[in-house]
Amino acid sequence: MENANTMDYSPVPAGGHTLPPLEYAYNALEPVIGEQTMHLHHDKHHKAYVDGLNKAELALVEARKKGDYQLIKYWENELAFNGSGHILHSVYWDIMAPPRSGGSPGEYTSYYIDEYFGSFEAFKAQFLAAAKAVEGSGWCILGWNPAFFRLEILQAEKHQNLTQWGIVPILVCDVWEHAYYLGYQNEKPKFVDAWWELINWNTVERRLISAMGGVLPLGAK
Ligand code: MN
Repeated sequence: MENANTMDYSPVPAGGHTLPPLEYAYNALEPVIGEQTMHLHHDKHHKAYVDGLNKAELALVEARKKGDYQLIKYWENELAFNGSGHILHSVYWDIMAPPRSGGSPGEYTSYYIDEYFGSFEAFKAQFLAAAKAVEGSGWCILGWNPAFFRLEILQAEKHQNLTQWGIVPILVCDVWEHAYYLGYQNEKPKFVDAWWELINWNTVERRLISAMGGVLPLGAK
């Protein structure tokens, strides 16, 4: 378990992701999850996400060098699909333990579950119902929403949808048609170029510092 004192704050370089080893044996979750499933799921499926994420990041390093963004949609999708796969599987391995050895909900977990869901039983019922009702491949996720300062249960169908779960938005541009159609009609690129001049970089800086939890290891490598 990492805590604030042992946390590694150095950024992961582009293409530098590695498959985290399991902290328990491949057969440790039996009889709930079998050893063969764990080998396939961790060594093959999760590994493929790590490899795909590294490949996408390195391809984008090249694209930035060359100023060539012809394949930008493809690589952004790869970044989201593989990045989310890597992040969510890392969490998945981390939040499991051998049957009946995982203890009971901690102080903060209990407090924020009770506060928002009303009771642990209500939380459990909603979580299990949501997990069973995910359409196709996907995830059921209990997440902390820093914007609302509370927990929420969400379904993720597939997991890419062009995001990497856990990322905190710092600077956003709305490119839905309602954001520009009256002024720019179908000329979205013209809107995006013009929009760039509107950015409040002071707010961006404030949001970045806040997302980093106020920790600013500038120059601290
Ligand atoms: Mn999986």
